[in-house]
Formats: sequence, C-alpha cells, structure tokens
Amino acid sequence: MSIDKLVVAKFGGTSLANSDALTFSAKIILNDASRRVVVVSAAAGVTNLLVELTTVTDDEQRFKLLKDIAAIQYKILDALHRPNDVAAAIDGLLSRIAVLSERLLIDSTKALKDELLACGELCSSQLFAATLRELGVNAISFDVRQILRTDSHFGRAEPQIDMIAQLAQLHLAPLFDKQVVVTQGFIGSDDHGMTTTLGRGGSDYSAALLAEALGANAVEIWTDVAGIYTTDPRLAANAKPLAEISFNEAAEMATFGAKVLHPATILPAVRRGIEVFVGSSREPERGGTWIRNRIDNPPLYRAIAVRRDQTLLNLHSLQMLHARGFLAETFATLARHKISVDLITTSEVNVALTLDKTGSDSSGEGLLSDHLLTELAQHCRVQVEQGLALVAIVGNRIATTPGVCKLVFEVLENINVRMVCQGASPHNLCVLVAEADVPQLVATLHQRLFDAA
Ligand code: ASP
Ligand code: MG
Repeated sequence: MSIDKLVVAKFGGTSLANSDALTFSAKIILNDASRRVVVVSAAAGVTNLLVELTTVTDDEQRFKLLKDIAAIQYKILDALHRPNDVAAAIDGLLSRIAVLSERLLIDSTKALKDELLACGELCSSQLFAATLRELGVNAISFDVRQILRTDSHFGRAEPQIDMIAQLAQLHLAPLFDKQVVVTQGFIGSDDHGMTTTLGRGGSDYSAALLAEALGANAVEIWTDVAGIYTTDPRLAANAKPLAEISFNEAAEMATFGAKVLHPATILPAVRRGIEVFVGSSREPERGGTWIRNRIDNPPLYRAIAVRRDQTLLNLHSLQMLHARGFLAETFATLARHKISVDLITTSEVNVALTLDKTGSDSSGEGLLSDHLLTELAQHCRVQVEQGLALVAIVGNRIATTPGVCKLVFEVLENINVRMVCQGASPHNLCVLVAEADVPQLVATLHQRLFDAA
C-alpha cells in the first residue's frame, strides 16, 4: 500500500491508562488508514511513579513503587490475555526498572534517571501495539531512540532536528507503508546511544518533531478533553470549544484551556505548516480544535489562558542607569542555565521577568538553582516571588484596538496586578496576579469577553 496522507497520532497518559482507554484509542487508529505513526506517553501516573522511584532512599519505599508500577502494566496485559511476546517485553522492562532503581540508590546520575523514566513509554508502546493487533490492525512497536537524536542534556535534552529527519527517513519511513508504527514520546538518545528525555510532558513535542521529520500532513493530539476551549471549563462554566485557532494565537496561549499543551511543543509542526488537531480519545465524535497557519476573520478575543505556578524574578541594579549591557549579561546568565524567559518588564533600575517552565527537567530539578542565584547576585540584587499565575487574553489586533485595556482593567478593579505585558504582540495582553485571584478573575473576564455577545 502506498500512503498519500500521513497523520502522526499522539495519545497522552489518560488515553492509555487502562485497557478500556487503550481500546478507545486503538479504534481511532482503526477508523482512519492515514494514521500510520502513533506516539505514546506512559500510562497515566506511571512517569510520576518513576520520578518518585528516583528519589527513594530505602528498599521498602522502592518495592512499594515497583509494585504500583507493575500493577498498572499487568492489569492491561491481563486484559489482553498476556500474548507471550508482549508479556516477555513487559516483564523485561519491569525488571529493568527494578535493576536501575537499585543502581540509583548508590549512583544517582541524571543519565541513569533518564534510562529509568524511559521505561514508562517503552511499556505503553508495547501495550498499545498489542491492543491494535487485537483489533486486527497490523501494528509494530518501534524504539524511537533509533531516530530521535538529542544532545546529552539528560532530563531536558535538545533534539537535533536535521539528524532526526535523516534517521527517520532511513529507519521509520520504510516501515509505515505496510503497518502502523507505534513509538514512544518523551524519550530519545544522544550520540553515544545513551537514553535521554525531553522534559516533562515532552510527548507532544516528540509527535511534532516526528511529523516534521516525516513531512506528515497532520499531527493529532488525543487527550481527555474535546479540544481547546475559550478558557479552562473548570474556571468558567460557559467556556466554549473552539473549532480552530491560528498558530499565532496558539503561540500566545499559556495553556490551551483545560488541555495543558504548551505551544512550544508544537513548534516543529508550525515550522512546516503541519496542521495540529486536539481532541478527546474517549469521544472523538465530539470533534476538537484545529490549529492552523491561516484562519479567516480571526476575532478580537479568542481565549483566556492561564499558566499557574509562575516564578517572578526582580533584579535591581543601579548599573542600569545610563549604562549598557546589563540585560545582555542577565540573559546570558539565564541562557547558560538553560532558562527561558516568558514575560519581561523594565524600569530605570529594575527588570522583572517570569521564567518559562515548559518541559521542565524530568529529573525534578527546580528552575532556580542556588548556583544561578549566586551568579545573578554578582551583578544585581535579586528578589524571587512565587505563588503567582499568568492570565493571558489571547486574540487579534489587541494592541491596535481602542478600549481593550479599559475593558480588562475594569474587570481587574479589585485585583492586585503584579505585572502587565501588552504591546509586543497583536495577539495578547498578559497580567500576572496571585494564584488565589485566578478563579474570580477568569470567571469575570470570560463573562465580559465571551458571554456578552
Ligand atoms: N510521560 C511523560 C510525562 O509524564 C511525557 C508525557 O506524558 O508527555 O511527563
Ligand atoms: Mg502527559
């Protein structure tokens, strides 16, 4: 069979959590022959258990976690009636987890942690391929480490785009002609063949990278919500599903409503103009949201996005007065520590910035290491504030339409705004507020922006 349309379909942890969820997900593949490459996360909860396993200090805790992880995988395997080859693969992976966790007790390196974390995705790819075969789909499981080449920054590795394209053409492209290929998100390998991970939540990124490498026509992100909403429905009961949004709008969203999918993770698809779909694997018939390059007549207000757990750094230095280079120095320090900055505002002698946690390090290492703070403190006074949330009003022509700020600031009347960013992009207006203010703010804003019409 030759393929005239290629779709890369990614399934998140909840879509793989148990045999029921796997069957719903497998039917999506069964229903459309263009879905030839499947990217899977670990089953829900498994990566968290594996991360916990990297922090244990005694065998009692370790054995309990090993048991919990095995229980999730075995329950699925039992429902599949334990096909011999798959049972052997899962047993092999579970013993690998046990061995690695024991080694970690005495040799806690980030490389070893990545090898351990990878086992979650390696298990679910075996189980998903087996579920597909049970439904009569010719499916194989493929080790993505053969093609997803990264640098050696364990815990949050950077993909090597050109190398991935070459390797994917060589090793993966010849396979999906004849069968559905199920592979792992989140994991890769470096030049020395060592296992790496892309950072927490990295499977969406993997799917977009593979779609780019294979020149796919679309990427589908199958999750537990039916697409992207005007805001998180838990915060506004009237939140409405969005049939489509533009890449520009998507890029300004902190999160996609209830679906926490950071736009950075779909950048590879954006680069190639590959359309991205987000939908619910439980209820595919409800449709979902398409993220596309061009949208006709985009509205002034599209959505309200929220990103919680923000860290604000306030840097004060008199060096900034009539001087040059302070920001360059600050950003160079942050870049050396692999930290990306989200929002920034400046005064004559202060710079305030929020830090981007996208794909935070899988090894559980915090963004603000003592080392970084010491380095920054060498050229300025540093203050750190936490417990903040970013609320972004996303839309079009925001910076050129009179009245937008008036409307938003009216809603903010009784709320302390820690920081405001507006003007850099036509697509957003962001405010940083205390986490505790988010429910009231988002509910009222949503009402004013979307319910009035
Ligand atoms: N399993 C990984 C995590 O939980 C990657 C992902 O789900 O995208 O972070
Ligand atoms: Mg996930």
